[in-house]
Amino acid sequence: MPLIRVENVTKRFGEAVAVDHLSLNIFEGEFFCLLGPSGCGKTTLMRMLAGFEMPTEGTITLAGQNLAGVPPYRRPVNMMFQSYALFPHMSVEKNIAFGLKQDGMPKDQIADRVGEMLRLVQLEKLAKRYPSQLSGGQRQRVALARALAKKPKVLLLDEPLGALDKKLREETQFELMDIQHELGMTFVVVTHDQEEAMTMADRIAVMDHGRIVQVATPGEIYEQPKTRFIAEFVGDVNILEGHVMGQENGLWRVKTASADVPLTIDDPDEVLHSGQAVAIAVRPEKMVIQRDPPGPGAINVLTGEVWDIGYLGDWTVYRVKLATGEIVRVTRANASRFVENPIDWDEQVYVTFAPDAAVILAE
Ligand code: ATP
Repeated sequence: MPLIRVENVTKRFGEAVAVDHLSLNIFEGEFFCLLGPSGCGKTTLMRMLAGFEMPTEGTITLAGQNLAGVPPYRRPVNMMFQSYALFPHMSVEKNIAFGLKQDGMPKDQIADRVGEMLRLVQLEKLAKRYPSQLSGGQRQRVALARALAKKPKVLLLDEPLGALDKKLREETQFELMDIQHELGMTFVVVTHDQEEAMTMADRIAVMDHGRIVQVATPGEIYEQPKTRFIAEFVGDVNILEGHVMGQENGLWRVKTASADVPLTIDDPDEVLHSGQAVAIAVRPEKMVIQRDPPGPGAINVLTGEVWDIGYLGDWTVYRVKLATGEIVRVTRANASRFVENPIDWDEQVYVTFAPDAAVILAE
């Protein structure tokens, strides 16, 4: 049974529909990410889980309890805000103890719990400091410790790493995962950063215009995006447009302007009809670039010239301009420092991909 059940929830602000007939299940112990572009409704959904907003329609239940009319402080849920909202006149330990004190927890238990939380976020040595004496990363940990201190069933985190610089953000992603794992608590994280969601989440709900477009594991979202929006929003992708010609031996044949011979695509889940307009999505690392023409009978061959090359250290990105003028991106892992006779700018090249490297997106 899901821990959180969102059923057909709509939230309107006057004329504006922030969340639109949305249904969702979140399970106990999950690290769940709500991912989507700015304005898609993720914060509004989160605020309804916390109880700061009430749905206009639909129901939210937590552990079987209908949350309609239940105020935030009566919910077994806590929220960590992007701004952290620490009390500037209180020390780190007092900040962490604040909610426990309000709940009337005995003093010795508060001291134990604060000690436990300080250890968890590795801030034992800074317990007496004030927020103004801490770095951004340390403040983030205090906010996390304070949000965790009451041991809520569910912790809601709104862009928890948004204020940190890139390197610290990447390190902190793993720390958050470790902490969640150690506590076995359910985390629901709002982010607009797809890499962050991919790294941390057990499952991701991708949102667009107040609706959920796909809920799946990071691997499924990346490998089997349901729509063009998801394919383009999560990771890098090449889109080739064309028409279905039919099916042969269980594989789809798709005619595109960019390939002389129809492409062969292995995507058995799609139900398509001949003549249907489709888009084909291929991730750049699943395309192969080569100088020599592929042998006779080769399939899925695109020809073009190298437009530019970007060296990223671990990867090299080739942008190849096809005869149609379309640019495809091909990435290649730099496994060795020594590459003999590497492909250069302006060279004529062949780009190929396997039938199962592509996904067909119905237009
Ligand atoms: P961001 O990543 O920018 O925070 P978001 O995905 O969290 O965006 P929401 O903050 O949930 O999006 O907003 C969804 C839509 O609802 C937006 O169009 C927003 O303008 C609108 N909205 C949110 N809160 C209110 C409000 N209190 N009054 C009116 N409109 C609102």
